[in-house]
Order: sequence, then structure tokens, then C-alpha cells
Amino acid sequence: MTDLHRLSIRELSEGLKQAQFSSRELTEHYLKRIAKIDAKVKSYVTVTAEQALVEADVADAAIKSGNAHALAGIPLAHKDIFCTQGIKTTAGSKMLDNFISPYDATVVAKAKAAGLVTLGKVNMDEFAMGSTSESSYFGATGNPWALDHVPGGSSGGSAAAVAADLAPIATGTDTGGSIRQPASFCGLTGLKPTYGRVSRFGMIAYASSLDQGGPMARSAEDCAYLMNVIAGHDAKDSTSVDKEVDDYVANLNGTAVKGLRIGIPKQYFNVAGLDADVKARVEESLKKLEEMGATLVEIDLNMTEAYVPTYYLIAPAEASSNLSRYDGVRYGYRCENPKDILDLYKRSRSEGFGAEVQRRILIGTYALSAGYYDAYYVKAQKVRRLIQQDFLKAFENVDVIAAPSAPTTAYKIGANLSPTEMYLGDIYTLAVNLAGLPAINAPVGFDKDSLPVGLQLIGNYWSESQLLSIVHQYQQNTDWHTKRAAIAEENA
Ligand code: GLN
Repeated sequence: MTDLHRLSIRELSEGLKQAQFSSRELTEHYLKRIAKIDAKVKSYVTVTAEQALVEADVADAAIKSGNAHALAGIPLAHKDIFCTQGIKTTAGSKMLDNFISPYDATVVAKAKAAGLVTLGKVNMDEFAMGSTSESSYFGATGNPWALDHVPGGSSGGSAAAVAADLAPIATGTDTGGSIRQPASFCGLTGLKPTYGRVSRFGMIAYASSLDQGGPMARSAEDCAYLMNVIAGHDAKDSTSVDKEVDDYVANLNGTAVKGLRIGIPKQYFNVAGLDADVKARVEESLKKLEEMGATLVEIDLNMTEAYVPTYYLIAPAEASSNLSRYDGVRYGYRCENPKDILDLYKRSRSEGFGAEVQRRILIGTYALSAGYYDAYYVKAQKVRRLIQQDFLKAFENVDVIAAPSAPTTAYKIGANLSPTEMYLGDIYTLAVNLAGLPAINAPVGFDKDSLPVGLQLIGNYWSESQLLSIVHQYQQNTDWHTKRAAIAEENA
């Protein structure tokens, strides 16, 4: 079969069960595509071909025996931020260029236990700090829709791999938009779950009170399958919540779009820098949801202006603390010929971390320092609470909130935005992390340059099922999620 990469997760699961093809054939198919096409896209940092075939054979045996998990034998790619035992985990950094974790992240362990086959590890912004994946030590990844454009970030490798059909699904992480924005830039569906829904154990920390893993795929249905595998309480992550997990696949039609109240924040659609095409596509998608029976309700989110400054104090503050562990002593990069211990620390860190990571360590250390702590960090925490309350108030009157995922479509590689320009591009995604809410990106069309545009739906706590269901029904009534970049049409 030459078109295995066109099948959805449900079709792959059925095909494997009915022995239309084996996991080995499917895995070889994807590995062949990666070998041919990824030279252009550059989404993978590490391809684990040999191990993938071993895992595929194990899955094939389990499928034959009749008691395999629904996803057994289906390949996936992991963002290179999830620790994988025996396989390099770099977080896109020179600091971890040679780091091999002695254990699996819980997300990875759960995927393995379900029999999913790991194709490899995919590129990302260094330590997940960025919106283009260009801050990776391993170089830029191309956007499958236009290779001279970025796939977004920080989970840009995950998005590019799926959009070029180099993996049927991928894991990502989202601290301030890193699942939703690359999904938007690459025409994919990506879900950022409620904080605490997916275990952070073994996920290399950026800003621990904001970090959350989730699925990136072509459709809400595909995301639901992966969520069924990775969601759930984990004793190894103290902020993971012990709450029953929905069956996201069974609930795909569980939320009625008819009668659904969708909040439209006034402030969001007047943001300077909101691209006209993005605005138009998002409004068309809302019109479609209206036709399907939803009611659009104008709402106020008065704290909008505070999102960027609040996030860019809290996230760097937590990052400066989390990244203090990379000292050149225990693991990670160590400088050559250190004069003494101080020289070892200093040079290992200044040689091992890239410019954006260093910038954030400096900002964060400053915000946490005695004398500035109250003025910056404590104040940001208070504003964070106000942002959360703003959302809770809105949810008294609406079921979900709609927004663009990003004010623009994908930037050109090397566009060299200033840090503040880049940070402003996160305006629509940051508040969701600050409040700990779930949100989803769905592809809703293209701009004048044929680059994908994404709609974001933000839900109340634990409403992942509802978000997936709404997008699933939208996708039953539209075909944006079925569009493929030309490079994905190439055969290996
Ligand atoms: N672009 C945001 C940042 O640079 C979000 C990144 C993320 O979610 N990991 O911090």
C-alpha cells in the first residue's frame, strides 16, 4: 500500500486489527517517508528506526493474539522534551546534545504500554522557549506548507512531522501556546489539556506551573485517541490531578453544538497586529458553528493587555529556577578545561545554552531577586489570579470561548523578529496556561499565501471532551482538516 499515511488513527487501528497491513509494514512505510522527505522538512532530531521495527513486531504479535490496545502498532513521534530511556533527549539544546535519560517520561511509558511505535524524537525550540522552533540547537524545521516558513513553536517538529505525513500523530507540550500555535501554523488539530490532566513526569521542565503535554494530529478524532492513552493521574507528578479520565473517543459526539454558547471576547478581535486573513477565516469558522446551531455571545476579557507581561515574568522566573540544574557537573554539557568550579559553571552554562534561553534566565533571575521580587514576581502572580477570574466570570455565561490561536500565519524562517515582537505573537495563547484551562486549535482555512489559519476554542476546566467533540463535529461538516500540504502528497 502506498497511501497508508493517509489513513486516520481509527482507520489504522481497524486496518491493523483486520490484518489489512501489519504494524511492521506501516512502520516501514513511515520510516521510508522520513528517510526521503524529512531531508527537506527537518522535523526529526533522532529517528529510532531499528527500535521502531522491534516495537512493531511486538505490536503485531499482540494484535494477532487478539488482546492488543486499540492503538497498538500505530507509529508516533515524541517531542524531544519527553525523556526516552536509552534514546537521546535533547530539548533542542546543546546542553543536552548527548543526554540519554535513564527512564521514560510517563507519557512515553503510557504510549509504549499501549503498543504505540516510537518513530523518533522531533525538533523544538530550545527548552521549549520560542514560537518558531528556530532557537533549536539542531537548526530550523520547515513548515510543510511552505518550507521557507517556520512550523511555529515550540512543538514545531511535532507539527511539521504530522503535517508532512511523517508521523500520524505526535506529542507536544504547551507552556504558553506551544501545541496550539504550531498546530495553527501547520493546519493541524492540537489540544492543550487542563493543567494536571497529563503527567509532567519526565517532561523536561520549562515553567512547571504552566507546562502541559498533549496530542497533535490531523483531526479531533485522532487527538481523542491519543488523549485516551496519555491522560490520567500519575503519582510521580504532584500536580497531576486524581480525577476520572473521560473516554474522549466515545464522547466525540457527546456535546451538542446546537444551543452551544460561544463567547467572543471583544478585546481579542481588536488586537493590533491581528492579520486580516486570520480574522476573516476565524470569523467564517464561527459563522459555520453558528449555522450548526451555536449562539455567539460577545464577552469581555478585560485583562487581555496583561497576558504578555504577566507570562513573560512568571515563565522566565520558573525557567531560571528549573534550568539552574544544568551546571556542567551531573549531566549535560560541560566546558573544556575549566580553571575552577566557578569557571566550570559559568562556561558550561554560557556555552551550553543559546541566546533566548540565556535571555530568559536573566529576566527570571532578575524578577526573583531580592528587592524586585515583590514588584515583579509577586505582582505577576496577583495579576495571574485576576486573569483566571476573568475567565471564570466569562464561563458563567458561555460554554466555550473562541479566539484565533495566533494573530498571524507562519513567519518566514530567519524573519528575525525582536524578542518583544515574538512575545506579542503569543497574545492569544498565554492566558490559557496562566489560568490552567484547556484549549484546542482547529484548522479553518488559509491566508492569501496558502498558509493555514487556526481557530482556538478555550474551555472551562476538564472540558477536553467537550472541546474535542465540538471540533469533531465542525470537522464532520467541513474539510479543512483533510487538506494536505504538497510535500505530504509526495510518495516515498
Ligand atoms: N512561545 C511561548 C514562549 O516562548 C510559548 C512556548 C511554549 O508554550 N513552550 O514561551
